[in-house]
Amino acid sequence: MQRRDFLIDLTRIAALAAIVPNDWRVVHRPRFADDPFALGLASGDPSPAGAMLWTRLAPRPLDPHGGMNGSRAAVTWEVADDEGFTKIVQQGRATAVPELAYSVHVDVKGLAPDRWYYYRFHSGQATSGVGRVRTAPAEGAQTPLRLAFASCQHYEQGFYTAQQHLANEEIDAVAFLGDYIYEYGPNTANPRLHATAEVMDLEGYRGRYAQYKSDPALQAAHAAFPWLLITDDHEVDNNYAGLVSENEMESTEWMHARRAAAYQAWWEHQPVRVPHSNSWADLVQMRRLDWGALARIHLLDGRQYRSDQPCGDGDQAVPCGDWADPKHTMFGPDQEKWLSSGLASSRAHWQILANQVMFAPFDLTAGPTRTYHMDSWGGYPAAADRLLDSIGKYARNRTVLISGDIHSNWVNEIHARFTRDETPIVAAEFVGTSFTSGGDGSDRNAAVGALAAENPHLKWQNNRRGYVVCRFDGDVCEADYRIVPYVSKPGAPIQTATRWKTEHGKAGITQL
Ligand code: FE
Ligand code: CA
Repeated sequence: MQRRDFLIDLTRIAALAAIVPNDWRVVHRPRFADDPFALGLASGDPSPAGAMLWTRLAPRPLDPHGGMNGSRAAVTWEVADDEGFTKIVQQGRATAVPELAYSVHVDVKGLAPDRWYYYRFHSGQATSGVGRVRTAPAEGAQTPLRLAFASCQHYEQGFYTAQQHLANEEIDAVAFLGDYIYEYGPNTANPRLHATAEVMDLEGYRGRYAQYKSDPALQAAHAAFPWLLITDDHEVDNNYAGLVSENEMESTEWMHARRAAAYQAWWEHQPVRVPHSNSWADLVQMRRLDWGALARIHLLDGRQYRSDQPCGDGDQAVPCGDWADPKHTMFGPDQEKWLSSGLASSRAHWQILANQVMFAPFDLTAGPTRTYHMDSWGGYPAAADRLLDSIGKYARNRTVLISGDIHSNWVNEIHARFTRDETPIVAAEFVGTSFTSGGDGSDRNAAVGALAAENPHLKWQNNRRGYVVCRFDGDVCEADYRIVPYVSKPGAPIQTATRWKTEHGKAGITQL
């Protein structure tokens, strides 16, 4: 049997184990020297009938195999109406297998729509903490949506203070737009350190997720609400594009293997419901969630199918080389079609595009020369115009893009033609800063301020750490930019730096 096929079968086994108890060589009452739920729990991808529930048995998170001994272990789960678990509405059994890092993924179905529930796990004598999860509203319901979004939580570059504050927000869900882990080895100049050298193989990535998920603040933010997770580059390799690595030295075979390890470890550690895939290296991550009739959330993959950054990546004066080649793509032809038909077929009030990198092109050079960042949409103008055509046709001024990657906050009006701010506005983009990546940051960015005249689509910008809370109802989408003044030491307070709104069916973004 090919290793690739073997791995596919294991994902099927894991999915089945959630509903069909598999008694074959399973240790029903495993014994643990330490708490096997040291990585916490999580929920995600809510539907009107349920959600994904996640945990991973890892009594010693940083030891090989998380301190597990190689046996399959029985895990039970419970979903209750109340935090005290006196009214259990569903329960079941799953099997944690070594081939999937003892992760547990339960696709709970049969719950009532638009409701909060509590969930927990048991294994042997051990009981996990309690998580809170909510279902999506029923089809047709106009329930408002409170969606926070965040990205980029380099463990070394800051304390997870923003995640702790996020856990206390009154929101329905969190969209995480990528860079959940960073692949790099340790840098002793940072306030915290990665435990291992740059990760490239399955055990390496698993250990990295284990280190990140050991953080209690991150665990609290997962336990409080369902998350919708997509990956960007650092879940695999900085600035990779498809099967092209950052430094373009590695073979496509090598990148295929690295991607397989990275995507498998991501799946093992996240509460995601992804479509069936042919191999770990080709794990399909794009998917949609409907929030009643109010919003359709498109969770997009701007790494796996993209063409290589043009003109050698970095910041480049344009036009350069084959920058404008219509064959260049951010999402790949299949995902482009899927997104366009998803916009066309949805009657939802709002279309939310959860995407990795900043969409609006930011001109980095004063005067007539234009310089764009090639790794964000600025390097993919033809693909951007194709997406703008779909937005203009199907969801004009009721589309909100949410983006990360850039480690700073931006508010961008999106125009009908990608590089032409004189064309009509068709969408709003809220770009959220990093949780920690880049360290403390700053309130003012003189370089960006000096380029305001070059970039009239830019309404506001700053360089602090934090996250964004969006509230959608039938009339308006409001975005609160929540920031912390520092992450280099613990304990920073949270504050709202600015608030913006865009109105359904109206062009433009205005400050509140
Ligand atoms: Fe990042
Ligand atoms: Ca310029």
